[in-house]
Amino acid sequence: MSEAVTVGLDRGIAFVTGGNRGIGLATALRLREEGWTVVVGSRSGEAPEGLASVQVDVSDAASIDSAFTEVEERFGPVACLVANAGITRDTLLMRMTDDDIDAVLQTNLAGSIRLSRRAMKGMIRAKGGSIVLVGSVVWALGSAGQVNYAASKAGLVGAARSLAREVGSRGIRVNVVAPGFVETDMTAELDDSQRSAILGGIPLGRYAQASEIAEVVAFLATASYVTGAVIPVDGGLGMGH
Ligand code: NAP
Repeated sequence: MSEAVTVGLDRGIAFVTGGNRGIGLATALRLREEGWTVVVGSRSGEAPEGLASVQVDVSDAASIDSAFTEVEERFGPVACLVANAGITRDTLLMRMTDDDIDAVLQTNLAGSIRLSRRAMKGMIRAKGGSIVLVGSVVWALGSAGQVNYAASKAGLVGAARSLAREVGSRGIRVNVVAPGFVETDMTAELDDSQRSAILGGIPLGRYAQASEIAEVVAFLATASYVTGAVIPVDGGLGMGH
């Protein structure tokens, strides 16, 4: 018996992009604990913790298609997609390059839309499925120095809600998790003054652990009557938005 089904449930295949570290890895481990057969998509094609993996670059449409095909051929149809891979290229807009804009929108927004489109094929055939897009609290709050990133995350909300309307009648649910600040490599880049300014705005007074985001992604993976939702997991920073 593979590690993936040791709790005795067999929920199906979950594909988690950017599952090699940070929030994606925590999500992959949590989904495995909850009985999913987890496949991690990573740029290197490798994943830690004995997780199965395929190579994918979500900024490349052809790579998304071939990664999905590989998952389907090696493991079976994807019942849960977690579009987690994402990047930042932070700087004030007046200094932001075209490449900073394009790379962030291409990876975070277009990548998640393309992943969802590809996931749809098998989910329609299976008459059900769950898509969870990993957004950010800044989608609604805004964030100086993150015009490109906040736009990409706000775009995910419009995409998720539109797709939820398109495919709800087919039993497919589409939701967004909107983390606040999480202890990962992404936030390790912040200096002490940025960290303390952020902490001052968080009612819970601390950053999240990646496992606390994973918990909510796993909830959405199986919450059978939740679709089109944006669930904030931000210690109160966005007060429900
Ligand atoms: P992280 O530690 O920087 O990890 C990012 C992950 O995305 C890595 O696995 C990375 O792969 C992958 N990735 C980036 N570009 C990719 C591409 N083109 N194709 C495939 N994979 C790619 O980030 P994190 O903090 O865990 O963030 C995960 C998600 O949560 C992101 O969407 C981020 O925007 C969102 N989020 C994070 C925070 C936070 O405070 N950390 C807050 C709100 C939202 P490599 O290892 O190959 O680089």
